[in-house]
Amino acid sequence: MTRCQMIRPQTCPICKTELPPEAATRSKWFPFCGERCRNVDLARWSDGRYAIVDDLSPDQIVDELEKQGIDVEDLLDDENLTDF
Ligand SMILES: [Zn+2]
Repeated sequence: MTRCQMIRPQTCPICKTELPPEAATRSKWFPFCGERCRNVDLARWSDGRYAIVDDLSPDQIVDELEKQGIDVEDLLDDENLTDF
């Protein structure tokens, strides 16, 4: 049995969603809440557009990436968001 040991809530750095405690060890997307945010982070860094999208919401970032021809939609799978 495991107890809650003063573990601070971990939040997704992209959308600030609070992650379940077990996400750190059980989520393949950690520290992100899911594949979408992971991809948003990867895309905005790898594409050198971090400064441009930094002020946008996750949804706006995805929209922006799609406008730039980055196929994000294909990677959006809501099942992954709860697949901890
Ligand atoms: Zn997120």
